[in-house]
Amino acid sequence: MIIALIAHDKMKPEILDFARKYRETLKKHTLVATGTTGHKIIEATGLNITCFRSGPLGGDQEIGAAVANGKIDLIFFFRDPLTAQPHEPDVSALLRLSDVYKIPLATNISTAELMVHSLH
Ligand code: PGA
Repeated sequence: MIIALIAHDKMKPEILDFARKYRETLKKHTLVATGTTGHKIIEATGLNITCFRSGPLGGDQEIGAAVANGKIDLIFFFRDPLTAQPHEPDVSALLRLSDVYKIPLATNISTAELMVHSLH
């Protein structure tokens, strides 16, 4: 499967914990990520991840384009629900495309935990 990983800034500690905890599962898949999230996960886990641009600089849109091209199977997107994001339109566009193409997308740790178990 091709899995995308994205986390807003305040959620990065959470996605790093998640990636450490499920490293062995994630490593069996092809991983892509927005720039900062991807580089931090690589640093923390050594996982092999293709990094797109940083989210606010177009990374969410790059992942959206990959969804539209059938190149993403599952998305972990740890969103910060309490902070306004300058690239909110890009975030909404990615959520919309994941619904258009019926791609499973977890926006918080509880859903992510359920989804990651389905990968085992
Ligand atoms: P980042 O982007 O991984 O480059 O921080 C995530 C986002 O804010 O969409």
